[in-house]
Amino acid sequence: MAPMAPHFADIVEATPTRETLRADSAVIHAALDRGDRARALADWDGMRRRYETWSALVYLRFAQNTQNPKAKADRDYADALSPEAADLDIALKRRLLADPDQAGLAGLVGRHALRLWETDVTTFDPAIKPDLEEESRLSARYTELLAGAKLAIRGQTVNLPGIEPFAEDPDRATRHDAETIRWSFFDQNGPELDDLYDRLVKRRHGMARKLGYDTYTPLGYRRMRRVDYGPEDVARYRQQVVQHVVPLVGRLLEARRAAHGWDKLRFWDEALIDPAGNPKPVGDHDMLVAAAEDMFAALDPRLAAFYRMMRAGGFLDLKNRAGKAGGGFCTSFPTLGVPFIFANFNGTHHDIGVFTHEMGHAFQNWESRHQPGIDYLWPTMEAAEIHSMGLEFLTYPAIDRLVGADAAERFRRMHLIGALAFLPYGVCVDHFQHEVYAVPDATPAERHAIWQRLERIYMPWLDYGDLAYPAKGGRWQAKQHIYNSPFYYIDYTLAQCCALQFWVRARRDGAAALEAYVGLCGRGGSAPFQDLVRSAGLVSPFADGALADVVKEAEAVLAA
Ligand code: ZN
Repeated sequence: MAPMAPHFADIVEATPTRETLRADSAVIHAALDRGDRARALADWDGMRRRYETWSALVYLRFAQNTQNPKAKADRDYADALSPEAADLDIALKRRLLADPDQAGLAGLVGRHALRLWETDVTTFDPAIKPDLEEESRLSARYTELLAGAKLAIRGQTVNLPGIEPFAEDPDRATRHDAETIRWSFFDQNGPELDDLYDRLVKRRHGMARKLGYDTYTPLGYRRMRRVDYGPEDVARYRQQVVQHVVPLVGRLLEARRAAHGWDKLRFWDEALIDPAGNPKPVGDHDMLVAAAEDMFAALDPRLAAFYRMMRAGGFLDLKNRAGKAGGGFCTSFPTLGVPFIFANFNGTHHDIGVFTHEMGHAFQNWESRHQPGIDYLWPTMEAAEIHSMGLEFLTYPAIDRLVGADAAERFRRMHLIGALAFLPYGVCVDHFQHEVYAVPDATPAERHAIWQRLERIYMPWLDYGDLAYPAKGGRWQAKQHIYNSPFYYIDYTLAQCCALQFWVRARRDGAAALEAYVGLCGRGGSAPFQDLVRSAGLVSPFADGALADVVKEAEAVLAA
């Protein structure tokens, strides 16, 4: 019997200040001065874990209640302290990388950690501290602007996530109304959205110039800690999507149009994947949370025990309520090791998708808690999204617990179509950013024109009808990653290619696929993306044919 019964409410972490951070860092430098590298590394790991735990708590509490002035003030404080913490962190990385005994250091922290630090030190200089603060401020403004949307529909007032159930309603007029209302919000706020992005792009370009790069793109890749592929590999991957996925999605949408007898398939028809109405969860939040115990028990005892621990310890916040930030995420407290998942259930199939997705992140973080250093607790994002998107597929055999036995097959079909249809959009978001940062002086109108041109390549079926704002190239402004997490989006599409490989394997041998998945989770972030992929017996998405093979299998299954 494990002695630990962790509870979320018991996590406490003292608030650091500039002074305490500097004092902690001075102790580590003093250990290095004495030549006690092992002591220094252990102290530094502890310092980073305490800082990350504190910071995760602050951001989580703000997301749980954005209306709470104390939570908001704490988040502003954390935003301001973050460049200071980065400065001290980078100074220690620089000093360790200058140690002549790199082989000995690699023996202590792992060779991959050194590669990550080598990347990190090229992304920061004290000269960009004011730019980082301004970048956080502009990102926060974007989040706040979108979170404040009040949309009136069918006698209710909802926020942007709240419009989703209407946007996939079986009734076509309701879907059209939902999109009209959604895009009128973006139309009204267009000038501010353009201005915020313009300032973010110029700020990021300026930071890149100060650090010695020609444009933001190479810096953006380094901030994502990508050490084993570059923009050329990503461009080839996008091309694979154009070749193998775009025609298939076009055929699936055409089949939907014909099945409904519509003259044209409009933008507001794309979210209605199942002609009989997208399957919904078996019940509300409480029912889903309880049913998930049965689902995980049917799949694997490790998943089941982990989920029971999270549920009993209060590490789930999945209910939608006023004042809560939108979206879903998984966060972690490295001093404790138990992660936390956050979502906003709205009664649609997205509840199931978000839940299994975030549980995948959480399970990986838990499985890799014994990795030696904080750098290995999470992998880079394209690898991390394999754990989350992979679990979405690996829960297929027991998904009837969440969606009902009669709807399980329809749910799997809908999810698979959604996974394929996501790829063209995902790579379009990525391609757009490459073009934007190549021409930082472009006008807002030119940026809209870039998006429009790329949409025609990746989603040639798009027909916005009378939705004027997306029709003139404004759709990208609803994608928070474009504003807040530059170049983090291709990650989902690369991971989808790997998650689909888990799906293919699970169809042949469910137990073996799950074993490979659990093993991959346990390796956490101990290796770069493509090494992790290969370690699980998967093919790198950058390898010729990797995407074509899974798409072929998906097409055959959907045709059956
Ligand atoms: Zn994710």
